[in-house]
Amino acid sequence: MADYVTTFMSRLQAKNPGEKEFLQAAQEVVESLALVLDRHPEYRSAKILERIVEPERVIMFRVPWMDDQGEIQVNRGFRIEMNSAIGPYKGGLRFHPSVNLGILKFLAFEQVFKNSLTTLPIGGGKGGSDFDPKGKSDNEVMRFCQSFMTELCRHVGPDTDIPAGDIGVGGREIGFLFGQYKRIRNEFTGVLTGKGLNWGGSLIRPEATGYGAVYFASEMLSTRNETMKGKTCLVSGSGNVAQYTIEKVLDLGGKALTVSDSNGFIYDEEGIDRDKLAYIMNLKNVKRGRIKEYADKYPKAVYQALDPSQDSSPLWDYKADCAFPSATQNEINAKDAQNLLKNGVYVVSEGANMPTTPDGVKLFVDAGILYGPGKAANAGGVAVSGLEMAQNSMRLPWTRGEVDKRLALIMKSIHATCVECADRFGTPGNYVNGANIGGFLKVADAMMDQGLV
Ligand code: NDP
Repeated sequence: MADYVTTFMSRLQAKNPGEKEFLQAAQEVVESLALVLDRHPEYRSAKILERIVEPERVIMFRVPWMDDQGEIQVNRGFRIEMNSAIGPYKGGLRFHPSVNLGILKFLAFEQVFKNSLTTLPIGGGKGGSDFDPKGKSDNEVMRFCQSFMTELCRHVGPDTDIPAGDIGVGGREIGFLFGQYKRIRNEFTGVLTGKGLNWGGSLIRPEATGYGAVYFASEMLSTRNETMKGKTCLVSGSGNVAQYTIEKVLDLGGKALTVSDSNGFIYDEEGIDRDKLAYIMNLKNVKRGRIKEYADKYPKAVYQALDPSQDSSPLWDYKADCAFPSATQNEINAKDAQNLLKNGVYVVSEGANMPTTPDGVKLFVDAGILYGPGKAANAGGVAVSGLEMAQNSMRLPWTRGEVDKRLALIMKSIHATCVECADRFGTPGNYVNGANIGGFLKVADAMMDQGLV
């Protein structure tokens, strides 16, 4: 089987040169699935793996728009429609200068397994642009979003492909995108999730990814008869996922010590309490400022600028019980993973997608800590997006309590699937294998049922 993985991966590399994040994500999944293919030759002969790594459709388009100075700007837009075996394509849009085909393919690929794990009928997709909303006026962001949706609206729809937010795409951007879709198509439908509450959004959707990552950590802790109460936590990022991770850590009696953005991070030994969290939310969501300003407001906290030439991030080098990486891919390398283990961290619940490099993952798995990979731990966001779709179809909103209860149940079920699959395929406690296998089986069976499409 090792030969099969090597041959498979070298073919994939030859076909997708330079797409390093996509190849990294595929390698991890294929290694886990080797355990399944051993027992299920039918998947191998139906070439399920060969088909699942090939997007059903890739859309790439020009996004021209005019800035406030009257200059013409041109960005590139993408939508990867990866797999629709169990439902319409679903996954976020990312607006960040680093966006390229390989990054979006990795995200779309992960999304297929994640969406399957949620138990909801949703396929996988992802999209975005190399547009950077940072430093742009609201009007510039609106003009960009309108131009982006003018093309995207030909390819998406409430029964076809339902995008949502991701890095750089929050409530403001979803509003502009939805407005333009409605205007062009003359229909008010649930084509996007993460909508405002007055126009079809779901309660708890903004909170869902962060809350879900903490619920997942609690589930992992429960296997050792422990809870989040009193746990110290390192959190990276200060956007949507980080903010609501900190809120749920507080709700469950834990203490968050750090928060970051792409320039640097804050270490607050006293912990980020509710007032400080409200300050972060206003700073990031309204003022759109930098996290450095936190240390001016709370002088006991320490700000440290990140130095990209360093071989590790000092954020991951503090004593703590838990880590919630919630910024971006590959933000924890092997050195960071070693530092985390050395400092006593024994719970890692990934709010971000693929935040740990493969050698970092290996260190966590070999150390036997409670390591929840992103495709399981951060699935709460897309799960509540699925619940938003259900409410849109019924044209009836659920209460905050109802959605939160369903979210907690879904995270419990994802955890149980990971544990059960890891056990069944001979690697108990390995949430990486559990998540990859659990997500795969449902999609693979649906692909078998639907024939060669
Ligand atoms: P936001 O844009 O709200 O926040 C992103 C945060 O991460 C910001 O603090 C940002 O800093 C920081 N960041 C982004 N890129 C980098 C980088 N290259 N290096 C260092 N820091 C960086 O995004 P989200 O909170 O929505 O997303 C965070 C992660 O969670 C992503 O991996 C995303 O894919 C994942 N995720 C999000 C879901 C959601 O529902 N939103 C669902 C599932 C996963 P700065 O402001 O300086 O750029």
